[in-house]
Amino acid sequence: PDRIAVSDLADKLAIPAVVLIKSLIKAGIMASINQSIDFEAAEQVAKSLGVAVERPQRERADGRVGEGDEGADLTSRPPVVTVLGHVDHGKTTLLDHIRKSRVVEQEAGGITQHIGAYQVTVGDRSITFLDTPGHEAFTAMRARGAQVTDVAVLVVAADDGVMPQTVEAINHAKAARVPIVVAINKMDRPGADPDRVKQQLAEQGLVPDDWGGDTVCAPISALKGQGIDELLEMILLVADMRDLKADADRPASGVIVEARLDRGRGPVATVLVQNGTLRLGDPVAAGAVAGKVRAMLNDRGESVSEAGPATPVEVLGFDDVPEAGDLLEVVAGGREARQQAEARAEARQQPEARGGVVTLSQLTQKRQ
Ligand code: GDP
Ligand code: MG
Repeated sequence: PDRIAVSDLADKLAIPAVVLIKSLIKAGIMASINQSIDFEAAEQVAKSLGVAVERPQRERADGRVGEGDEGADLTSRPPVVTVLGHVDHGKTTLLDHIRKSRVVEQEAGGITQHIGAYQVTVGDRSITFLDTPGHEAFTAMRARGAQVTDVAVLVVAADDGVMPQTVEAINHAKAARVPIVVAINKMDRPGADPDRVKQQLAEQGLVPDDWGGDTVCAPISALKGQGIDELLEMILLVADMRDLKADADRPASGVIVEARLDRGRGPVATVLVQNGTLRLGDPVAAGAVAGKVRAMLNDRGESVSEAGPATPVEVLGFDDVPEAGDLLEVVAGGREARQQAEARAEARQQPEARGGVVTLSQLTQKRQ
């Protein structure tokens, strides 16, 4: 059948892809930028946008149009999302709601693990959330050289509007070149004024898509759980613009999200695998600390034997407590792991190497 890639259709219609995809969603068609849609759907949506469409001649003998069809790549990975915003605008409430409503709790005991990150499913796809709210976490990670976030969700309370920390968060995300999805929160409040928020966002250079810009805004109530499904869809659609890929076949590399000394279990660290697959028994080095993966638990507290790209896992088996923000690598063997760690530890003795960097673990303690 005749199909057209969503990205091509957006080009042809001369509109931002996000606007097109939102229109598709309104028409009940779920498609990401890398996918293609059939001609009838394209025609219907183009019409709703006031554009008439002519059916093209089949372009290729195999019936495929554009490169979008290769989108379903085995090496696609879930986006990693950080939630930012002014204090009291609802970051924690949003993260808690998403976790509670989306992460199936372990049968026995029903205790949800708080390991600093969790993964949720949206349809047949996944999103990984860093559960450490606050733009400090974001900047701390970056200060340590870790590029963790693929999409930033900026929470703005509809009754309060853009505030100083909102502007700071925008600037941090811009500096890191991380795309922003705006969650206009507290829509259930009597004083909610989303248009004022959009006006203020536009003044910060974030022009909402329904105003002709390319910033996706989702009205939500984190407290009542309204608009969250749409927000998650918007996150996926913005993530798709980045075409996130990873190679699950290589040895893992990742970042320490949180770490602590557990009385019974020794050093425990939450690792976000960024590339490759982390497996039981892998010798690892994280900053100045070496180790060997002795046990891994997922965000539901279940034992797992491997963790692929964008998966957060609690890892046991470090010789010492690594620092949040440290990069983790699988190394060739036990001896080499220790040598590498020693070299790094030495480098860190240099005072300038550690100049006033805030670690995530310190920040986590400050968490409300
Ligand atoms: P944070 O500082 O950004 O993490 O904000 P919190 O999640 O702690 O929320 C601050 C306050 O706003 C709490 O009392 C929440 O119950 C409340 N709150 C958060 N989201 C909503 C919402 O959608 N509607 C209403 N009415 N209150 C909310
Ligand atoms: Mg909070």
